[in-house]
Amino acid sequence: MAGQINAFEIAQQQFDKVADQLGLDEQVRQILRWPAREFHMHIPVRMDDGKIRIFEAFRVQHNDARGPNKGGLRFHPAETIDTVRALAMWMTWKCAVADIPLGGGKGGVVVDPATLSVGEKERLCRAYMRTMWRNLGPRQDVPAPDVGSTPQMMGWMMDEYSRITGQYTPGVITGKPVGGGGSLGRTEATGFGVIYTVREAMKHLGLDPASCTAAIQGFGNVAQYASIGFNEILGGKVVCVSCWDREDKVSYTFSKPDGINPTFLKSITDQYGTINKEKARNAGYEIEDGGAWISKPVDVLIPAALEGQVNSETVKLIHPKVKILAEGANGPTTPEADSALNERGIFVIPDFLCNSGGVTVSYFEGVQNDMNFYWPREEVFEKLNTNMTTAFGAVLDMSLSQNVSMRDAAYMVAIHKVVKAMELRGWI
Ligand code: NAD
Repeated sequence: MAGQINAFEIAQQQFDKVADQLGLDEQVRQILRWPAREFHMHIPVRMDDGKIRIFEAFRVQHNDARGPNKGGLRFHPAETIDTVRALAMWMTWKCAVADIPLGGGKGGVVVDPATLSVGEKERLCRAYMRTMWRNLGPRQDVPAPDVGSTPQMMGWMMDEYSRITGQYTPGVITGKPVGGGGSLGRTEATGFGVIYTVREAMKHLGLDPASCTAAIQGFGNVAQYASIGFNEILGGKVVCVSCWDREDKVSYTFSKPDGINPTFLKSITDQYGTINKEKARNAGYEIEDGGAWISKPVDVLIPAALEGQVNSETVKLIHPKVKILAEGANGPTTPEADSALNERGIFVIPDFLCNSGGVTVSYFEGVQNDMNFYWPREEVFEKLNTNMTTAFGAVLDMSLSQNVSMRDAAYMVAIHKVVKAMELRGWI
């Protein structure tokens, strides 16, 4: 998915660096360097033309010392076992940093969902659940939406699991549609959570949010609500977003120096995060090369698309004005680029802290499912804000007290919690 960059190698490198700094025991290190369980599947599905197509799919369960495995399910043509391993490992750290009692997991199906009819998508989702159900469940492993998957797809999978087990089990999956076991606020959660961490970073750096600008990569679930949040929560201005264009097979940046209107752009964007070029151009947006977002003279950069986007080449394009890089995406920065950002003094909010709002509200969704009692939207956002602010504060304190980067500090906070849980359970 990230071209030449192997996401799992990056995840292991990041972990090894901090394991060295902590002097982590070799055996503990070996447990945490690899996923506990991996499922490789070949799932047959009948297509609309009557033929059977085989889909390659994965589920990886990295570590469940702190609670059931938790993590999204991607539908993407370039998914590999290594991207899923990396994402599962990052989920373990994310749940620990966010201080929610869950472990790390991730899944993937190798497909471009936009090439499937609605019926084919539903049959694929149900088939995935029929293949995996014995190893999923509210107390085992709980998937959620991610790149290329939607609340409706979660709804179908929850229904399939409930039919197989004979029991209505909404807690088997999160990110379900509201009214079908979903939580209010889940759609906005990751993007708004990104903005809560940006707000805390601005406080720490003494920046006035209302006079700050941002450039965002991507315009899917995370980027849409990060843009809306940057405007509405911080009062700042987003000058561009970008997306992958399926027809042209390239990415584009959609810019407006005096500020984009994210709500308007959202209204002309399809369910996979592709903005309609014609309508955007008619509304006065300049359409630039997909890489243009990273060189904008803004205060905040928010990569919110895929892995490996801030790398040894693109990092050189970052404008001197940039003060904060908020990682909305998982694994957007390579280790070489990370070192360059640190040398330049750019404040990085690492992915598994920055985008932990999604899994936090997924956890709230599971709690509401267990209680069969649903909270109002304001209560969800209030709890999310409190959790994210606390998580950011803990990582910042670690970074200042240990004189390490925010990424290394986030790893330290997370590894301490996971190792503690393994000790308490007698695993080590
Ligand atoms: P999405 O599928 O809704 O959107 C992805 C966006 O990225 C789309 O707009 C797509 O056009 C764009 N994109 C893809 N390739 C691109 C490229 N080369 N250049 C520019 N844009 C490109 O996905 P999402 O749910 O918004 O997830 C985005 C990132 O955030 C992923 O790394 C995902 O793992 C991570 N994440 C998502 C959630 C969540 O709750 N959705 C939570 C945590 C982390």
